[in-house]
Amino acid sequence: MNFVLHGHAVSGGITIGYAHLVTTARLEVAHYEIAQDAVEAEVQRFESALHHARDELGLLKQHIAADAPPELEAFLNLHRMILDDSALAEVPKELIRNRRTNAEWALVQQMEKLVARFDEIEDPYLRERKADVQQAVERVLKTLTGAHSLAEAGLAQERQMIVVAHDLSPADMILFKRHHFGGFVTDVGGVTSHTAIVARSLGIPAIVGLHHAFQTISEHELLIVDGAQGVLIVNPDPVVLAEYRLRQSQLGLERERLKRLKSTPAATLDGTPVELYANIELPEDMREVLEAGAAGVGLFRSEFIFLNRDDLPGEDEQFEAYRNVAQAMEGRPVVLRTLDIGADKAINGDGAGSIPNPAMGLRAIRFCLAEPQMFLTQLRAILRASHYGKVKILLPMLAHVHEVDQTLALIRQAKQQLDERGEPYDHAIEVGGMIEIPAAALALPIFMRRLNFLSIGTNDLIQYTLAIDRTDDAVAHLYDPLHPAVLTLVAGTIQTATRGGVPVAVCGEMAGDLQLTRLLLGLGLRNFSMHPSQLPAIKERILRTNLAEVQALAQRVLRASDPLKTKELLARLNA
Ligand code: PEP
Ligand code: MG
Repeated sequence: MNFVLHGHAVSGGITIGYAHLVTTARLEVAHYEIAQDAVEAEVQRFESALHHARDELGLLKQHIAADAPPELEAFLNLHRMILDDSALAEVPKELIRNRRTNAEWALVQQMEKLVARFDEIEDPYLRERKADVQQAVERVLKTLTGAHSLAEAGLAQERQMIVVAHDLSPADMILFKRHHFGGFVTDVGGVTSHTAIVARSLGIPAIVGLHHAFQTISEHELLIVDGAQGVLIVNPDPVVLAEYRLRQSQLGLERERLKRLKSTPAATLDGTPVELYANIELPEDMREVLEAGAAGVGLFRSEFIFLNRDDLPGEDEQFEAYRNVAQAMEGRPVVLRTLDIGADKAINGDGAGSIPNPAMGLRAIRFCLAEPQMFLTQLRAILRASHYGKVKILLPMLAHVHEVDQTLALIRQAKQQLDERGEPYDHAIEVGGMIEIPAAALALPIFMRRLNFLSIGTNDLIQYTLAIDRTDDAVAHLYDPLHPAVLTLVAGTIQTATRGGVPVAVCGEMAGDLQLTRLLLGLGLRNFSMHPSQLPAIKERILRTNLAEVQALAQRVLRASDPLKTKELLARLNA
């Protein structure tokens, strides 16, 4: 049966491939139906994986080193007990038989049920034991999925797979960077959620907010993802398929054509230069940054190196990551944002579920100032990397000037600690702030006095101005960069900063939106930071822009009092 689902477009392009269903709990676990006559074989497969995991634990116990901590044996015993418990040893078999589902899926379903019960336990020690259940289950899963793990699926096969999930966290998404999937679709999520941002950074078609994709699509069904329109076609008929294949190859040619602009300097028709920088999450992203010909890294979301792990990265590990990026840019600017953890990017074990209102909670700079030792570690690592390139520090989520003052004091302290160690760093390192809370935009001069540069985070600025949770697809239709309040704050920040001689950039998703390039240019923006995959098209738009014309039209957009008029003026800007 063929059908079409509509969601929110996250990342453009067209991809055609086969559905691969994944759960948030275990990314590489597929869900598929087992034929009636294969059910007992599936139960057998589960049982032998369980035995294998138990045997592995036994072997590990036999080889415990003499100097190993005494808890290690207790820990292995605990995992063995977990795997012996009927909740994990028997219930999945019932699920396989009753629902004719594959073994991995049955096991993960049962694990999630158990883990949810742990969340309700008050005793913190017992609550923590949920991690042991997850680890024990992972051991079984590793054996189960071993033969068909995605890592072994091969690149060609991966490119034909489209990940279908109910929900994916930004931490899940970052793991996908290791793979080469053809596209992503999820049931929930807003277009500027960090999950969507990471999907966009992968440069492959993606759609969020499809509501029923995970329930209605089966493993291996043929899908067309139109990431520009937010349309997902399931089991397309041959005519539709041929049409999309044609469009797909046209888009491929277009991408190749744009690549030729790599070394062309970005400037408007009258020769006004514009700086085009790249946003990255991990040092591995630098290959695309260099391929896109970015003039700098405008936003290194450093928190992504803190995700998907049980410990915090130490100073040396962070230093290496930051230095790699600084060196790759060979003297061009690298704006390193300090840890913006919290909200939808939770460090392991610090689930947003337990925080009443995570986007407004102890996030970003607030979290860092509450954990000064952890913050100092990061600041030292950044300072050390500044010896290897033009590194700048960017502070997220500023609302109060005392947050800047306290951070500047910590930077002085970090510098002093490095002086004592005799470690080199850039003594004149610049410190900038993100303008992403309306309070900071409205009280801009007091921030400008303390900072060397500003960067407008439009994703959060829109979230906090319009009171819409950027991760919630139920309010995603209210996300509107053209809302007069948003435009007033963005335009006011650009104008006030420029007049005051403080460099200002936009590093939120607005900077990579082709529909908004001329508007932002007209409002005075000269530094855009975006995903590397968006950079060539934005550059081409800039090269074709008459600045005087767009300046006049942009002022009219600012004054427009009717959304229809705004749309009409925007269409004229982009004509
Ligand atoms: C923003 O808020 O616009 C921004 C760039 O930061 P992040 O998306 O990481 O919150
Ligand atoms: Mg932000």
